[in-house]
Amino acid sequence: MKRTVRIFSSIALLTIAVCFWSACSIADDGGTEDTGKPEPKPDAISRLDQAEQTGVIKTTGSSPPASQPAKLTKGGVVLTFDDRNFDDWVNTLSLFDEFNVKATFFIHGKIDGPARMAIAQLKLHGHAIGSHSVSHLKAVEYFEANSAEKFLQTEIDPQMREFESAGVDVVSFAYPMSRNNTTTDKTLLKVFRHLRTGRNITEGKRFRDDDAFFVKATEVSEHGCLYAKGIDHAPWRPDRTYAQIDGALERAAANDEIIVLYAHRISETGTRNYLTPEALMRVISKAKSIGLQFYTFDQLP
Ligand SMILES: [Zn+2]
Repeated sequence: MKRTVRIFSSIALLTIAVCFWSACSIADDGGTEDTGKPEPKPDAISRLDQAEQTGVIKTTGSSPPASQPAKLTKGGVVLTFDDRNFDDWVNTLSLFDEFNVKATFFIHGKIDGPARMAIAQLKLHGHAIGSHSVSHLKAVEYFEANSAEKFLQTEIDPQMREFESAGVDVVSFAYPMSRNNTTTDKTLLKVFRHLRTGRNITEGKRFRDDDAFFVKATEVSEHGCLYAKGIDHAPWRPDRTYAQIDGALERAAANDEIIVLYAHRISETGTRNYLTPEALMRVISKAKSIGLQFYTFDQLP
């Protein structure tokens, strides 16, 4: 009898876990908090083991500080994706591999079973992982209502400990909803090598003419916080048509500059923020055709 109850409980738990995983994957910039602790799926556990055995994921808690990457000289693109769109990201690994492109994935919430499984896969394929905070709150407003210390204590430290126990070195942070100022930057740069925020193109300018998005490859280490351009819904919005994006890529290639792009889901369709695989492939192909490199945040000095 007890055994029957135990089996039934296990099935119920697994169902809840799968539901949580699905819910996480459709969360975008809406500030979803993650309180569930789903268990890994069996096949994903074996993938996690594979990553551990091949040394991609370290199983010991303490990890040495990430060494400073070499100075960059060639212009390039830093592709980034946010939130917890694990299914989309893992499903796109073959596309990234086809073009030998490495991206950075900024995760918010608990580094629980689903997060660890996704991280294992992403790391196995050479991608980088960044922090996107615990609760996806607006940093500027949080600092004003509480304090810098409280933000670090509640939104950064717990997640960094979880990343560490998952064996992942995290050296970069993406602001939820791009809410940053000089105070938040100064505080967070004590923890991270680079921060990423977003901004709109200055009124009346083209993407390629807005200097805020471009940093000389040789000067990246002098820019703690980098300004990224959103490309969800490309090419259907006027600020992210292929003409706009191509222009920016051409400028970066001509001047050996770095540009950072961000998106959320990678999907054919969606109700909120997503980039289609076709648009992603189009951006990658253009960048490659003009000799741009692809860098992860871990590769930025
Ligand atoms: Zn977000």
